[in-house]
Amino acid sequence: MTNPGTPPITTRFAPSPTGRLHVGNIRTALHNWMLARKHGGRFFLRIDDTDAERSREDYVEAIRDDLNWLGLAPDAEARQSARLETYRAAFDALRAAGRIYPAFETAQELELKRKIALGRGLPPIYDRAALALSDDEIAARKNAGETPHWRFRLDHETPIVWEDGIRGRQTFDPAQLSDPVVRRADGSWLYMLPSAVDDLDMGVTDVLRGEDHVSNTAVQLQIFTALIDACYPGRQIPRFAHEALLVGTEGKLSKRLGSLGCDAFRERGIEPQALIALLARLGTSLPVEPDAELDALTGSFDLATFGRAPARFDEAELARVNAAIVHRLPFAAVADRLPEGMDEAGWHAIRPNLATVAEAADWWRLVTGPIAAPALDEADRGYVARAEEVLVWSETPWQALTSALKNETGRKGRALFLPLRQALTGMEHGPDMAELLPLIGEAAARARLRRAAEG
Ligand code: GLU
Repeated sequence: MTNPGTPPITTRFAPSPTGRLHVGNIRTALHNWMLARKHGGRFFLRIDDTDAERSREDYVEAIRDDLNWLGLAPDAEARQSARLETYRAAFDALRAAGRIYPAFETAQELELKRKIALGRGLPPIYDRAALALSDDEIAARKNAGETPHWRFRLDHETPIVWEDGIRGRQTFDPAQLSDPVVRRADGSWLYMLPSAVDDLDMGVTDVLRGEDHVSNTAVQLQIFTALIDACYPGRQIPRFAHEALLVGTEGKLSKRLGSLGCDAFRERGIEPQALIALLARLGTSLPVEPDAELDALTGSFDLATFGRAPARFDEAELARVNAAIVHRLPFAAVADRLPEGMDEAGWHAIRPNLATVAEAADWWRLVTGPIAAPALDEADRGYVARAEEVLVWSETPWQALTSALKNETGRKGRALFLPLRQALTGMEHGPDMAELLPLIGEAAARARLRRAAEG
């Protein structure tokens, strides 16, 4: 039972709608979904759209569609663009508490400072020149028409420490970090402050994201503390966990990986369950199990199984997992994607041969015809002619036919089966003939055997 004082586990997935979700985002979304579901908690979608120029509405819709397709629908959705007033209030409170200060350096000046520091072999940390400006100097600059951007003042006296759910204890010296810019001169927001405000407002208990955010977390921990002191009394800082990044098979963060989205997967016949089965376990010490149901995957989700090494995403592995999943998809799950006339028996006969559901149409043509004319030698032509004569239609025509032919001709193995398969399907391999022959039907089967016999 949950302790009445303990807030429910609440996670969020916070994509910026500046592009389609790629496989790395999908993995983050899935893990947050599982973490919440495992504990009976809540999973929120937060659209990080403070960057009005780069954010697009069609991407917001695509993100929702993709999550639905994956079966990871959120319990609620928030949009940063609708919360600007809340950020302003938090900003004002932090400013009143002396934690936010104006700075006037231009991008060029900052770049120059960076170069000078690097040239001296020093880390390019912001030198806090703006912190030394007096009120009069600030007023004079504003009067002269300069508009400041705004930085959060890190507390250099308090070391930053957290127990990361994947990486273990993390420590940062705040003096080695730049005071982050939280708001631009035009009033727009950078990621750092709104995200912390939202996490507090939405009661997020666990932030699980990629390790490219580790240094953001260091800074945000101080932002969280300052926000709780200034305007969110009694709220809790979330727990943090950072996943190792996903890399391609060549071991690098490839461009390809960044461009692989749900649309591309869907087009290639990848089932959402395949992505889920693979991404649930990739980078963990648990095996990828195409047969595991989502509930089982969720039940075994555990940050303690996550490794620190980059997780390799292998498209060939995804294709294998996909095929295994297609082989067990029930008819009802695929009926609307199957070729006309293909019924449950047809699906069961054909699915073991499929890498994707779409391929069912190719195999179904073996049933409906026309099929390619097989080239049989004379002996085999005589053999299939005889097959047509001994064929007795029943519930199990293939078993009856092959055992009769075996007894009569002494043929076995390949010689017994292959010419029949070729005559009946025009192919040398394919679905189990015992399942396929009843679907082809007696009249078509006889016609195909006769035609093959004629050569
Ligand atoms: N919008 C941020 C990103 O996509 C969110 C990071 C976070 O999870 O806080 O990287």
